[in-house]
Order: sequence, then C-alpha cells, then structure tokens
Amino acid sequence: MRTRFAPSPTGYMHIGNLRTALYCYLIAKHNDGDFILRIEDTDQQREVEGAIDLIYEVLDETGLHYDEGPDKDGGHGPYIQSQRLEIYHDYAKKLIQLKGAHYCFCQGEVEGEDPCKHLNSSQIEERLANNDPYVIRQTIPSDGITTFDDEVYGHIEVENKDLNEGILIKSDGFPTYNFANVVDDHLMGITHVIRGNEYLSSTPKYNLIYNAFDWQIPTYIHLPPVNKDETHKLSKRNGDASYQDLKKQGYLTQAIINYIALLGWAPKGEEVLSLDELIEQFDIDRISKSASIFDINKLKWMNGEYLRRMSLEDFHQVVLPYYKHITLDVDLLELSKVLQPRVERLIDIEDMTDFVNVALPFDASIYTHKKMKTNPENSLEALELVIEALKDYDDFDNDEAMSDFLVALAKEHGLKNGRIMWPMRVALSNKQSTPGGCVELAHILGKEETMKRLQQAINDLKG
Ligand code: GLU
Repeated sequence: MRTRFAPSPTGYMHIGNLRTALYCYLIAKHNDGDFILRIEDTDQQREVEGAIDLIYEVLDETGLHYDEGPDKDGGHGPYIQSQRLEIYHDYAKKLIQLKGAHYCFCQGEVEGEDPCKHLNSSQIEERLANNDPYVIRQTIPSDGITTFDDEVYGHIEVENKDLNEGILIKSDGFPTYNFANVVDDHLMGITHVIRGNEYLSSTPKYNLIYNAFDWQIPTYIHLPPVNKDETHKLSKRNGDASYQDLKKQGYLTQAIINYIALLGWAPKGEEVLSLDELIEQFDIDRISKSASIFDINKLKWMNGEYLRRMSLEDFHQVVLPYYKHITLDVDLLELSKVLQPRVERLIDIEDMTDFVNVALPFDASIYTHKKMKTNPENSLEALELVIEALKDYDDFDNDEAMSDFLVALAKEHGLKNGRIMWPMRVALSNKQSTPGGCVELAHILGKEETMKRLQQAINDLKG
C-alpha cells in the first residue's frame, strides 16, 4: 500500500489538513505501507515563502514521518509539482492523442459546448504556430455514466453530461489539481488516495482520465469535513485555529494528534491513544461519513489527560518555560506538583500562578467565606495565631507535617481547620482560588516570603 499527503504550501497547517496527513499516515502504517509527501504548489499565486519548511516541521514534530518526499527520494520524484511541469505536458499531449483532452483557444469561461472541440488538426497546428494562447481542457463524453466505489461514501454514480470539461493545463503552462493529481498518483504508484470529501464530486472526472490512459484507478477514501459547528467548516479565514495556533496555546502535540484522530474516526474502546496505538487500531471501516465538530473543550480535556499521565519530572520540564514571569526564589517543583492535576492548557499557567512572584493587591472581601465561617475580623485573629506559631516552625518542605501542625493549632484554639486555613491561603495569594491550599502555597513560597505575606495581610486587615 502507498498513500500520499499532498498539501499546498499555504503557510499554515490547518486542522483538516493535519487530520488528512494523519489518516494517510495511519492507514499506510497500519498496513505496513509507505507514506509519501508531495507538495502541490501549482497555484503560484497562493505560494507563501517558508511554507514548505513549515510542512516539514509540522510532520516531523507530530511524528508523521514520510517514507518518500522532496527531501527523501524514493525513486518517484520530483515530489514538488512545480518541478514536474514537463511531465504534465507530456501526459497532456498523450491525453489529447487519446481523445481525453483537447486544446482550447477560447479566452475566459466557455459556456455550453466548447467550440474548440471541433477544430481539425490543421486549424490547431495553425493556431499553435501562431503562438495563440491556449489551455488544455478535458474532453468528456456527452453520454454514459461514470461510477466508482468510495471506501467511505460507497457507490457513486454520475452522468457524464453533468461533468464539466475543466482545464487541465492552464495558459501559464501549469497544470490544475484536476490533472496533476491523476498523473502524480499514477506515476508515484499511489494505491490509496485519501483526501477531503470536497474532491468526491470531481473524482469521476479523474477516473475518466485514468481510463483514457488505461491506468489502474486507485482505492478512494474520502474524508468527512471538520466543522466548527453544525453548518460551518473550520477555516483559517474565520480565525479558526491551525496546528501552530494550538501549539502556541499550550496544547501538547500528542494530545492534538490524538484528538484529531477522533475527528471522523472512532476507536472501539479507550479514546486516549498514542500514535503507535492509533497505528495498531486505525481501520478504514470506522471512518465516518458525517462531518465531525471540532470541540475545543474535548481537546482541552484530552490535553489535561496527557498532562496528568506524565511523571511529575516530565510535567515539570514541560511547564518550566511557562514560569518565565516568576523571578522570586520559590519551589517550582512544588508549584508543578500542585498544577499538574489542575492544568488543561499550558497557556493558562501564567494566570494560575500570577500570585507567586509578587503579592496581588489586598482585597478584604475574599476573607469572607460562608462555608468556612470566615470574615475579615476573625481572619485577622486567625492570622495572628498562625504568624506567632510559625515563628519557631521551619519544616516548610513537608506538606504533611505542616498540615498536621496547622490542624493542631486550630484544635488548640477550638477552631475548625477552615477558620485557620482559608485566611492563611488568602493571605498568601490574595486570590479566591489557587492551585493548592495554604500548606502547598507556604511550601512553594518558603518561610521568608510566607512570613512576609502573613504580616502584610495582618497590616492590611487592620487597615
Ligand atoms: N493539494 C490539495 C489540497 O491541499 C490536496 C488534495 C489531495 O489530497 O489530493 O487540498
């Protein structure tokens, strides 16, 4: 089996594209086949500088390693369409001889039947000798039916009279997708064509070209669209996220890949699957026909799952770059420990830890908590007890010991734990909610900073 991913270098990798690349890769690898990268850059107006490198980068980062591609020759190159112009010309001329295509000298759109179909060979020679601009159009029989079976969408039947005789070679000499995809898929030995279902309706035209050349038609696997809601497709133009955008927001590559695999395919069991597990389980039969909706909340959840499943050390390495705003000497590993069960997107870490580096502005109202039965007045009393007790206490790195110590302190004064712990946590953060409770925050901040903040809170509460 040979599959290919054939992106156009547009400068970003949108989610639908990456999903196609992933499915091409998974289907090939599940069947011990080859996965080929081909760059479709025949629309020169859309060409963006650096765009090809970005494709290499994303495929490399996501682990979708291709067996053949522009920088990995497998004997079927060149793998960049703009380097194959001669090949398309040769085949276009052959197709003209085979009556599958014709020269067209009309300028602009052709309404109804193309008059150029009726030019005889000497008229054509004359116009070519005259250097008249031309395109090469597909010639489609006006009667008959073209049929094929798609692995996902089933049996497709189209009347030939409903197919338009589209351009195969443009006046600038470049082929259109409609021609290049057939020539390349054939010459590159592609056995399974996997692509978005926007190509489903043109596929009968491609099959007519295969038939004219007497080439074997590949197996087709058209994929359902990825939508942002019931009616709209995901699109960069509407500001929808690309792979790079998701990375910038702190989603892990593996979580993105895992989530994208589920956009149009369903595993039999567990949804959290590594790339190797996806290869093992991916079967064409379970690809869905209907559009799938890109659900950012599900991706968030999945990202959280990946973060939670890491070892603390690995998680710590992943989040370290998100601690850049913290310059105070605090226990970052302890910070990672409290964050790990709570983070879903890495980009949220800065907000979640905004109280660590410097105390946030005082807000008396946060000390009032119904369930804890606290208010600014009794919080002041509690903090005075805490600061006094901690003066001679140094074991800040031992969460269990400090928790026992504070529980005993509450007991000693006949108070519920919350009456001590809520004010202390607020004093250390000036925040309604924080990752971790007072014990963890004291551990992260260390004794010196903890005492400083407790004293500051006491001063603030006294007004
Ligand atoms: N270059 C086409 C695109 O980016 C590829 C379609 C295909 O996979 O054949 O949409």
